[in-house]
Amino acid sequence: APPAYTPTLESARQVLKQYYGYDSFRPMQEEIISSILSGRDTVVLMPTGGGKSVCFQVPAVISEGVCVVVSPLIALMKDQVEALKANGIAAAGINSSIGQSEQNNIGAACMSGHLKLLYVSPEKLLSPGFLQFLQRLKISMFAIDEAHCISSWGHDFRPEYTQLRLLREQFPQVPIIALTATADRLTQRDIQQQLRLSEPQVFTASFDRPNLNLIVRPGQDRVGGILEFLDRHPDQPGIIYCLSRKQCETLSQKLVAKGYRAGHYHAGMTPNQRSAVQEGFLKDDLQVIIATIAFGMGIDKSNVRWVIHYNLPKNIEGYYQEIGRAGRDGTDATALLFYSFADVMSLREMLTKDNPNLTQLNLTKLERMQQFAEAASCRRKILLNYFGETLATDCGNCDICRNPPTTFDGTLIAQKALSAVVRMRERASIGLLIDVLRGMRNQAVLSGGYDQIKTYGAGADLPYLDWYSYVHQMLNDGLLYIAYEEGYALKITELGKEVLQGQRQLPLKQFKPAEKAEKTTRAS
Ligand code: ADP
Ligand code: ZN
Repeated sequence: APPAYTPTLESARQVLKQYYGYDSFRPMQEEIISSILSGRDTVVLMPTGGGKSVCFQVPAVISEGVCVVVSPLIALMKDQVEALKANGIAAAGINSSIGQSEQNNIGAACMSGHLKLLYVSPEKLLSPGFLQFLQRLKISMFAIDEAHCISSWGHDFRPEYTQLRLLREQFPQVPIIALTATADRLTQRDIQQQLRLSEPQVFTASFDRPNLNLIVRPGQDRVGGILEFLDRHPDQPGIIYCLSRKQCETLSQKLVAKGYRAGHYHAGMTPNQRSAVQEGFLKDDLQVIIATIAFGMGIDKSNVRWVIHYNLPKNIEGYYQEIGRAGRDGTDATALLFYSFADVMSLREMLTKDNPNLTQLNLTKLERMQQFAEAASCRRKILLNYFGETLATDCGNCDICRNPPTTFDGTLIAQKALSAVVRMRERASIGLLIDVLRGMRNQAVLSGGYDQIKTYGAGADLPYLDWYSYVHQMLNDGLLYIAYEEGYALKITELGKEVLQGQRQLPLKQFKPAEKAEKTTRAS
């Protein structure tokens, strides 16, 4: 019989040692486990590789009853269940791919109170009769993995996840633990609201990954650039992300032809082909994986030394998650992004066709991604600002920090824009703000009465595209943010107020006229 534990931190430490072989918890894990053991709803925002699983698995082992884990990907679920079993913890997974008799066995193990963790896909959880089945069990807690899938603001929305509110309705006494590696403001809000969490304790680990060297390069001669990169990183395992399956295959062939141990991975391959490639990479038989974004969710390979983006990602959330697969062991790793405006154009076209309801949101996010790639300020600061975190000093480990572009004192320009943002009561989108600064007399300006504010026309000396660049630099620097949920209104941050009040200067990168012809679009 398994040893009887008491749900205390002391036994949590024992379990960590006994089943996982680790001597101590990482800084936040202990607080999270305390919160869970006290029976509170708990939200865990922690980057990939931070150690989220331990946070609910350990309390599950020492609590009475079974912990029901909702997990969106069958492959991920299998890996986790296998890993738990290998550690000697009673776990099982139920999803559409298992047969009835196996399901019956698992059901019996649940009823006997023997099972500590039961992984289910959201589809299975919501299938007829399943919640009634759960009603007959003693459930210690629900753990919602990849909880960002509940939010349509996120990059990985899964409609089934929105039904998870049923858990709170039907199991009001059972605490819910939501875990994700996506921390943006709106996703957080959605998770709490939609899961009906009651006064949850929220734990946010820093998303900073100081060991990742961030580099953006112009997208000319990408293959040449990649070969040169591989030459400088001999035998180091890494992932190249491409937008299309075809690109994956072509690039993979080119690298193999050059003698590299490379393989491709995308959703168009059979499960067997895919797991063979994944295995090869995990075992270091393959040095390079060329993949679409289908690859990597739940990949636990700590020695990935680099991630290359062959194309611009659709948004910063996705980019951040993908580069986060490099350097999980904490030692130096590189994230290299190839950027061309042509990528922006094709992504725009793709997003416009994708989901009509979300087009504007997706285009706005793409715009931020583009501005990240074109940025003139510390790239890590931009990423962290995007996730609502601030970095006191420039990072020193990105291409911009190493080789800073020339800037001028943009404080006055920033003050004009910030002042207009405030005077427009933080309701203006970027386009409207610029129109007001430039003294335009269009419908939106006049109907809002914005021709009456003091900063109206204060920036008439600068062309639209210069303003466009400066406002995005201000977003990247964390002086402003976009409230997507309020008509894309620009809001001022604490840092922005400091600049507005003259307590802080703002360097800006000159907008180069040469870029104008190519990168012109008038945002509506
Ligand atoms: P996440 O789910 O946040 O991506 P995981 O739970 O997969 O992260 O953990 C990442 C890695 O860190 C795993 O190999 C895990 O075993 C290891 N790990 C987790 N907690 C600890 C700890 N307290 N001490 C040492 N290693 C840990
Ligand atoms: Zn930097």
